[in-house]
Amino acid sequence: MAQLVLKNIYKRYDNGEKKWFQKKKENDFAVKNLSFTCEDGEFVGILGPSGCGKSTTLRMIAGLEEITSGDAYIGNVRINDLMPKDRNIGLAFEDYALYPPLTVYENLAFNMRAKKKSDAEIKAAIDYVAPFLKIDDLLDMKPPALSGGQKQRVNIARAIVRRPGLLLLDEPLSHLDGKMRQSLRQEIKRMHHEIKCTTIIVTHDQMEAMSLADRIIIMKDGELQQMGTPLEVYDDPVNEFVAGFIGEPPMNLLASTIRKNADKFFFTFEGSELQVAVPVKYNTVVKDGMKVTLGVRPVDVMISKTKVEGTEIPVALYENLGDEKRIGVRVGDMLLSMTTSEDVYYEKGQMVQLVFHGERTHLFDPATGERIRG
Ligand code: ADP
Repeated sequence: MAQLVLKNIYKRYDNGEKKWFQKKKENDFAVKNLSFTCEDGEFVGILGPSGCGKSTTLRMIAGLEEITSGDAYIGNVRINDLMPKDRNIGLAFEDYALYPPLTVYENLAFNMRAKKKSDAEIKAAIDYVAPFLKIDDLLDMKPPALSGGQKQRVNIARAIVRRPGLLLLDEPLSHLDGKMRQSLRQEIKRMHHEIKCTTIIVTHDQMEAMSLADRIIIMKDGELQQMGTPLEVYDDPVNEFVAGFIGEPPMNLLASTIRKNADKFFFTFEGSELQVAVPVKYNTVVKDGMKVTLGVRPVDVMISKTKVEGTEIPVALYENLGDEKRIGVRVGDMLLSMTTSEDVYYEKGQMVQLVFHGERTHLFDPATGERIRG
């Protein structure tokens, strides 16, 4: 087990495309000024849209890509210049490169044999890990006879069997079907709970990150946006990007102008009569005419049973998804969505009155996307 520390890491891929007279630009970097610590035994998820630098980050930690600048440490050892094999890491990538002619057992044993471990040590290690990933019945089989899910289990078992200091998982579940993903996710979680190996998983699937990781790093355009527990990034996003990225269905993000009326502040919206009271906690940070992006999750918009001045609006959309109902209203040219688990029904065009959950209504600066705190 080990702690991983990244300090001001940059990565620029040098593909030789740039001519000497062309200036290198900031956006040439696949990863920019990335710093974080993954504590000993912690499970950290790196989450972000495609191309944001997740795999590059993992590959730099693994030693498969050079670090352009910055420092990476596993334990107290600076690993920048260490060969991958000397970093004490286990790797499981999306494409499981198992050796087809070898049995599952021999695939798992391969790296330990290379390190001259005894047969007894190898057997003990495999016997310990195999049940966590439910592959104990597969040990005599060869990879071509395994299903995709089984291969991925073996792949992960192979990465962990040597008990590395750091386990790196790159989209390990992404090409498995829904049910298989779910069960393998649970097994990875259980395995981590038992073995407590410091683990980093890269994924574009927020459910995967939220359910597996102790803390999540959200990246965009090569930069870390926020690192926090799943609850922190959901409840307390630092900017509009994180707010919109985490949560399904996504947070409503509406362009709004603050208006002051009889000493109270209201959110107003272009092309709409809707006026919703600004939670009082923002009274000291908003002013009349200020432009903001209003962020409120669909579960945090409620339909009031009593009249609320200025919030009456016709229902534009109603969907019954069984355990969840979705209701949408048009606010100018934007759609505001609400979800509820209550057993309700609304006709299209039916007038409803809205209330926003005061504590869970967020404001963002439309120019920078940064959170405005009340
Ligand atoms: P993610 O894993 O988040 O999808 P990547 O780390 O694969 O993102 O990519 C980050 C950026 O680096 C992207 O712009 C991608 O095009 C670029 N990139 C990735 N690998 C290479 C490479 N081998 N050569 C050049 N550019 C690359």
